[in-house]
Amino acid sequence: MTLNREQILAEMGFTPLWVLRDREPGVTSTAAANADPVDEMPPLPAPAVDRPISPEIVPSAASTAALPVDGLAWPELTRRILDCQDCPLCRQRKQAVPGVGDLDPDWLFIGEGPGAEEDARGEPFVGQAGKLLDAMLDSLDIARGNKVYIANAVKCRPPGNRTPEAAEMAACRPYLERQVALLKPKIIVLLGKAAVHAVLGEDKPLAAMRGKRFEYAGIPVTVTYHPAYLLRNLPDKAKAWEDLLFARRVLREAATPALPF
Ligand code: SF4
Repeated sequence: MTLNREQILAEMGFTPLWVLRDREPGVTSTAAANADPVDEMPPLPAPAVDRPISPEIVPSAASTAALPVDGLAWPELTRRILDCQDCPLCRQRKQAVPGVGDLDPDWLFIGEGPGAEEDARGEPFVGQAGKLLDAMLDSLDIARGNKVYIANAVKCRPPGNRTPEAAEMAACRPYLERQVALLKPKIIVLLGKAAVHAVLGEDKPLAAMRGKRFEYAGIPVTVTYHPAYLLRNLPDKAKAWEDLLFARRVLREAATPALPF
């Protein structure tokens, strides 16, 4: 038996699917409307082909430890991350996970750190939480690789998927700062408390920060729950949906030029 996409998500506990109100009834997305059979589904949505999504990587240098990253272009930055040994997380990683997506994005989603599957594959959000994130993006009619970039606060897997420590996030922060400077997204959405701490330096409960507009480097920032948390707390998916709609409103407001009066 082959399952279509909605059935797969239902099997995974991701239902109810998020649906834009202005869509036709019964149609959850273009992808869902096409109802690809599971056997033919790629593991992730295909990235846009007309945008730069895979920066070149320069050859490994002998040692780049603790060198400044200001001014680095994508190839050098990516190589620096892959070679980095600036915090203890480098010891148990299979590989560092710099990030993935459109290098000219509207949206930048920032999570916590790579999990086991991300560590193995070198791409953020590819496990169950990644599938849920893709469903969240799909509900907004966006997809990774198409005006969306996805990164993490720390680029190497914390052992046992624990929360990254403050010192580890601080060590990794220059990479994230340089990524933001290169990407120049129109909005940043922080996924979970660790990402909030890493970018905004806030330790307030996430619930107290939802539905508010923050700013980082002149870019609007909003927060929501990490998809891994949502997998354990499915009722909070409705709150995450509200957060995404709020983020989209913030993005649209940011993209609308102010009236001259
Ligand atoms: S987590 Fe960041 S700072 Fe630590 S080793 Fe990995 S890339 Fe370097």
